[in-house]
Order: sequence, then C-alpha cells, then structure tokens
Amino acid sequence: MKYSVFPSIDGKISKLGFGLMRLPKLYEGKEDIDYNEAEKLVDLAYKSGVNYFDTAYVYHNGESEIFAGKILKKYPRESYNLATKLPGWAIKNHNKTVDELFEEQLKKCDVEYFDFYLLHSVNRDIWNTFSSVKAYENLKEKKKEGKIRHLGFSFHGDFELFKELINDYEWDFVQLQINYYDWEADNAKDFYKLLEDNNIPCIVMEPVRGGSLHKLNEEAREVFANLSDNTPASYALRFVAQLPNVLVTLSGMSTYEQVEDNIKTFNECKPLTEEEKEAIEKANVLFRKNFAIPCTSCKYCVTNCPQGIDIPTCFAAFNDYNKTRDLDDLNRTYITIPKDSRAHNCIDCKACMEHCPQEINIPRKLSQINDLTK
Ligand code: SF4
Ligand code: SF4
Repeated sequence: MKYSVFPSIDGKISKLGFGLMRLPKLYEGKEDIDYNEAEKLVDLAYKSGVNYFDTAYVYHNGESEIFAGKILKKYPRESYNLATKLPGWAIKNHNKTVDELFEEQLKKCDVEYFDFYLLHSVNRDIWNTFSSVKAYENLKEKKKEGKIRHLGFSFHGDFELFKELINDYEWDFVQLQINYYDWEADNAKDFYKLLEDNNIPCIVMEPVRGGSLHKLNEEAREVFANLSDNTPASYALRFVAQLPNVLVTLSGMSTYEQVEDNIKTFNECKPLTEEEKEAIEKANVLFRKNFAIPCTSCKYCVTNCPQGIDIPTCFAAFNDYNKTRDLDDLNRTYITIPKDSRAHNCIDCKACMEHCPQEINIPRKLSQINDLTK
C-alpha cells in the first residue's frame, strides 16, 4: 500500500480509503448491511494496509457508523483513521443540535474522537444552516478539546461559495468529487487547483463516479481492454491518485473482488503513461455519448423520499437502456426493483431534489422512466 504524508496531517495516510457507503447488503433494495460479508472486506483492506475508513451519519440509513464502530473495534484505535460527517439536513429538518449529533456519532462509532470530521455535502443552502447554528465554531472547539483531529468539509456547491470557504476559514483538508468524467466538464480541476494553491490536502470522493466509470459502455471498455487486463476502475483511480495534492482516494467497495482490485492498484500506484492518458480521454468521450443521468448512487435522495422510491436503481436501469436503446436492457435492472419502489410511485413532491449533489431533476427523469416502462 502506498501512503501520503502532508505537513498539515498527522501520520501517514493510505492513499486508498475505504468508503463505507456501499457495503454488501442483506436484501436487494434495502440498506441492511451484511455484516459477515462486509467485515471480510474491511479486514482484507485493513490487513493490506488501508488505514482510512470513511462513514457518515446518513450512510446505510444510519447503520454504517454503527458497523464502523463494531468492526474496527478489534483493531488498535491509533492504527486507523475514522472519518465521519455532520449532517446539515438533520439540523435543518429535525432541529437536532451539533452537540447532540456529534455525541450520537461518537456513541454509534464507539470512539472517543474522530480523526477526520467533515461538514457534510456543503452547498449554499446547507452552509446557511451550518452558519445559523455556528457549526464551524463549535467544531473548532471540539478540535481544541481533542475530539476531532482534522476538520474539513465535503463540497457540492458553486465555485464562489467554495472560494469564500477557503479564504475565510481554516481547514485541515477538503473532500471533493474528482474523476476524469468531471475533471474538465464539471470544472473539478478548478476546485482542486484552489486547494493546491492554498496547501489544503484534498480527499477525493466518487473517483469511479458510483461505479459508472468501471461499468462504462462497450466502446469505452474496449479502449481499456486494448491496453491491458487492468480494470476500467483501476484507470479511474490512478487518474485521481496521480494528482500531487490528493491525500486519499475513497472507494465505496461492495465486493471482495473490488477490494482486491483496488489494493492491487494502490500497491503499485503507477503514474499514468502518455498512452494511458490518451486512452482515458478517448474512453471519456465514448462514454459521455451514452451516459444519460449523471447519478453516482450516493442515495442521499432516497432517505428523503416519502414514497421510498429506489431512485438510483431506476436511473441505473435508464442508463443501461440509453447505451443501446433496447428496452430489454432497461427491464433487466428495472424488474429487480420492488414494485412499490419503482418510478410510477413518484408524486412529484420534489423533496429529493435539494439533497442531490449532482443537481438532477429527479421527478422529471422518473417520469421519463415511467413512460418507458408502462
Ligand atoms: S419527487 Fe418523487 S422521487 Fe422525489 S421525493 Fe418526491 S416522490 Fe420521491
Ligand atoms: S439521484 Fe442524486 S442524490 Fe440520488 S443517488 Fe443519484 S446522485 Fe445521489
């Protein structure tokens, strides 16, 4: 395993971080974690040198933090870094205080401190919520008390706000969505550059864009297959890991094979050759033609949908269809969704929309999917 060392960060951090948001599940369409399977993945990662584990209040409907606490307990506390995040929506919609949430998280994770603590999924609206309760100031105090070792935020807002946050506050690190799909088109590189200019280490989320840069489409997959036996995911991860200001690259691993593949990638962590860079550019162009809905399967929308619609799976089915325009490709995934959780149950209440970091017009897309599946 390769490690990062940054002057502002205590200790060495594995370049690969385990995102505990897409753990193996007991039942399709539900969030219950398959503890036995998930524990095997975490154990393999830990024993292979991964020392950064990233959870959040919202992952797996709140179960991910409990899982992290139980599974990591068997390892010496100082041997791993645990990251979790403060949910702005719980302050705004459920009137919870920062102290209540923080204490609840310590308890769920069964720890006395967090190594990395983030204001979660900041955009203008969420920042206003955090500001109204002085969350930043509160967390700075907690850092002084030793309950937080490094303080940062994950971001999904506009560049103006981002500049404001970087210029007006002190951060130990920032978490950004960076991958080759978003690098130019979504200006991810401008956000990254600002961090680099300010010597703030960057933690990368969604390097494989919720798995879509691994699945790709046939034409894009072929570009990588012509180069080597390495998986498309490995190229996406190396694209990000080669950036000098990246502290850790998070991967939301769901299977044993994914953990093995990612470990192989980060044991070597080779810089991309010119030929590989060209292949990534080519695959990106070919994939873009067919990737209709830029959903990363983060599931933030699902928790807030009163109808319990499995929005990311509906979108995955649509993206499969969009590659071939063959309805069989849509239905293959769509029929795995329980009937009550399919697109036709959407009541257009729009409650999901403010939670989507990718700013997808969810009800409109669901309506399109409903038309196709009638
Ligand atoms: S608009 Fe549809 S998908 Fe979104 S929260 Fe409402 S019912 Fe759920
Ligand atoms: S629709 Fe948006 S919030 Fe929902 S899973 Fe996809 S990216 Fe996440």
